[in-house]
Amino acid sequence: MKTYFDADASLDVLRNQTLAIIGYGNQGRAQALNLRDSGLRVIVGNLRDASATQAEKDGFPVLSIDQAAEQGDVLALLIPDEVQRKVYDDVISKRLRPGQTLDFATGYNIHYGLIVPPKTVDVIMVAPRMMGAIVRESFERGEGSPAFVAVAQDATGQALRKALAWSMGIGATRAGAVETTFAEETELDLFQEQAFWPMFFRAMLESYQFLVDKGFPPEIVTMEMYGTGEASEIFGEMARQGMFKQMRLHSPTSRFGTLSGAQALPFGNQMRPFMEEALARIRDGRFAKEWQREQEAGYPVFKKLLAQAEAHPINEVEERMHRLLKFKLE
Ligand code: NDP
Repeated sequence: MKTYFDADASLDVLRNQTLAIIGYGNQGRAQALNLRDSGLRVIVGNLRDASATQAEKDGFPVLSIDQAAEQGDVLALLIPDEVQRKVYDDVISKRLRPGQTLDFATGYNIHYGLIVPPKTVDVIMVAPRMMGAIVRESFERGEGSPAFVAVAQDATGQALRKALAWSMGIGATRAGAVETTFAEETELDLFQEQAFWPMFFRAMLESYQFLVDKGFPPEIVTMEMYGTGEASEIFGEMARQGMFKQMRLHSPTSRFGTLSGAQALPFGNQMRPFMEEALARIRDGRFAKEWQREQEAGYPVFKKLLAQAEAHPINEVEERMHRLLKFKLE
């Protein structure tokens, strides 16, 4: 496993290139601003709407996506993953010329073959492990935030150098740009979303419901579980110190309870079949196909799930909890 830092990268390979940011959203805005502050030439390709106005306000030349695809040497597809394929097929693919670079912030569309670029272009990934606002803020603080970098196709022999230059331009090599593959990044990302977070969410909801059923006031339950921000502090300390090392911050009673409870958990191993199935569905493309069908059908299941989540009584309980406390984590 290799991590690249500033000393391993150089902006030179991108200096005489035009960097086209396609999509001025979370990642688009942050990366565009950082790249320009790094002295590189950046243009923006966007639909004519609020994001385009923002990009103009930020001082970028804003073009239509087809114009940006023509003028850019590197085209960073920073539009939502679900629309990338259509925008690529309808607008970008016919304008690609040999030697251009396609840059992605996640491996999804390339990994699943939803976008198949011609062999004459470089295909790279610089995937920040952080939301766009933090990519920008950490850059401004001089720190940067980590990213995964990968090369799917090296037509020019310069693809990795370009990926590292891009990483340097957005500040990622200050913190560490870790080399990976499109497959690994995609599978890990999806596994986190489809196995880890569901188990975590379900554990929270089951605990919440159990305690409410046992007569505990729901506001106090949500406050205890995550409302005060202690849970997010614990996650922060896990990142800073380590999962077990952060336990030093907790009382012996807490540590004993957590460690002994985790060992005693009767269904620890039973999570494995769920994880096996989730990873299998990710790897053999069943999830990608299901998600594709869902998009084509107008998101019927997704809409139902969102409606169920919005209708969950915990939403109302959280409002009451905030009023009770006059406190909200900033
Ligand atoms: P956003 O949802 O913030 O980006 C939206 C941008 O895409 C806007 O400029 C929007 O235009 C444009 N857009 C939306 N729909 C269309 C369309 N149909 N045609 C053309 N343009 C469209 O995306 P993110 O920044 O969240 O994600 C971009 C990429 O970065 C994705 O690949 C994502 O997986 C990856 N990524 C995102 C992270 C994050 O922090 N969110 C973290 C790491 C990677 P407008 O709004 O003007 O209509």
